[in-house]
Amino acid sequence: MASETNAPPSPAPGSVVTRFAPSPTGFLHIGGARTALFNWLYARHHGGRVLLRIEDTDRQRSTQAAIDAIIEGLDWLGLDFDAPPLFQSDRAERHAEIAWKLLAAGHAYKCFATPEELEAMRAQQRANKQPLRYDGRWRDRDPAEAPEGAPFTIRIKAPREGETTIHDRVQGPVTVKNAEIDDYIILRADGTPTYMLAVVVDDHDMGVTHVIRGDDHLNNAFRQLPIIRAMNAIEGDWPDPVYAHIPLIHGNDGAKLSKRHGALGVEAYRDEFGILPEALFNYLLRLGWGHGDREEISREEAIALFDLDGVGKSPSRFDMKKLENLNGHYLRAADDARLAALAAARIGEEADVALLTQAMPVLKVRARNLNEIVEGARFLFARRPLAMDAKATALLDDEARAILRRIVDRLAGENDWTSATLEATTKALAEEWGLGLGKLAQPMRAALTGTTTSPGIFDVLVLLGRDEALARLADQAGTAA
Ligand code: GLU
Repeated sequence: MASETNAPPSPAPGSVVTRFAPSPTGFLHIGGARTALFNWLYARHHGGRVLLRIEDTDRQRSTQAAIDAIIEGLDWLGLDFDAPPLFQSDRAERHAEIAWKLLAAGHAYKCFATPEELEAMRAQQRANKQPLRYDGRWRDRDPAEAPEGAPFTIRIKAPREGETTIHDRVQGPVTVKNAEIDDYIILRADGTPTYMLAVVVDDHDMGVTHVIRGDDHLNNAFRQLPIIRAMNAIEGDWPDPVYAHIPLIHGNDGAKLSKRHGALGVEAYRDEFGILPEALFNYLLRLGWGHGDREEISREEAIALFDLDGVGKSPSRFDMKKLENLNGHYLRAADDARLAALAAARIGEEADVALLTQAMPVLKVRARNLNEIVEGARFLFARRPLAMDAKATALLDDEARAILRRIVDRLAGENDWTSATLEATTKALAEEWGLGLGKLAQPMRAALTGTTTSPGIFDVLVLLGRDEALARLADQAGTAA
């Protein structure tokens, strides 16, 4: 009984080669980014190499825009590769060469079945409630029986007896009966290789030792192994790779991740949601891999700690709230000048990077993303007379305006324009007038920012500077500055 297992010994440290192999039919979505990250971390952890292969054989659906977005997204996340990307479509000749080798050595065969014949076969299987798979009708037939010059495909001669067990580093041992794997096509009638063949040949030629990918490819591994083993029988030096099929990412509701859940391109997290790359890196790391309760793990620590043993078997749930909370932590840790530049790019030409840098410690205190920082910074670049939003307008009733007038009078005499002094003065005023501090602070906030939410009011006064702050207060007090 041919019972085969895939349990290759782990290669020596330093000889690990992983690869990320996206199909550029869409952007780099969150699941792909995590697969890339795990490949990258595994290789870096073991002092090995990580490679990028663009699986662009589906010419109709692959686009240059998607290729660019994938490469840019990986770069943004700080995932670098140890060689320029390999384009699968460049290698069709090499793939075909292997198909012919397999054929010559009797590990593959020509199939002359016509499309109509195959359709009839499937109809019959459907009617008999059998699984739809090629029945091997040309497996042992003499090709001389085919009509002269008839078109043919080349099919792999997959083992029929016994079973195959893959010792997947994430899924554990998985066994499939060999009878369930059909003799699928490796070379089409027009001489072009199929995807299944291309993956195997490329992995071999790139020296890939570890195939880490989504578990939607686990079935493919059982189909790919017959090619690998046949080639190993012919040439040697075609070892089984170590497989690690990582669970897919689900939405917060447990359903497969869709656009609705945030299965968006990585650039959407950067551009639309204002997420920092280190936050997404860390979030993706911990999505499906854990190291105790650790929340924030630096890139260096991640490399030191990552291994496949920590990858869970069950699908992880993508949670935008958690990502944003984590992003908030990273914003607070991030360099202010860097954040100021990022915010300035979003604000446009009226932005003043120096002022934003100065304001950043205040702006980032509660922000969970760059959009909130930009929102919080709007008041800095607003022009007098400020537009008041609805809440600010409602707040600025006659009483509030009267209070503002008295505040302007007093602050105009204030020469030490620092947060501490301004706070002390305003508090003293509130006490003197028998009012709660909020009675003063709220109209001040409205007048200074045009809104009812902002950083601390004394920080706002300082950031605006004496003249601008007094002018804005005066605008709403109804007195000329
Ligand atoms: N190109 C495949 C995908 O994007 C991955 C194939 C593989 O990793 O073997 O899903």
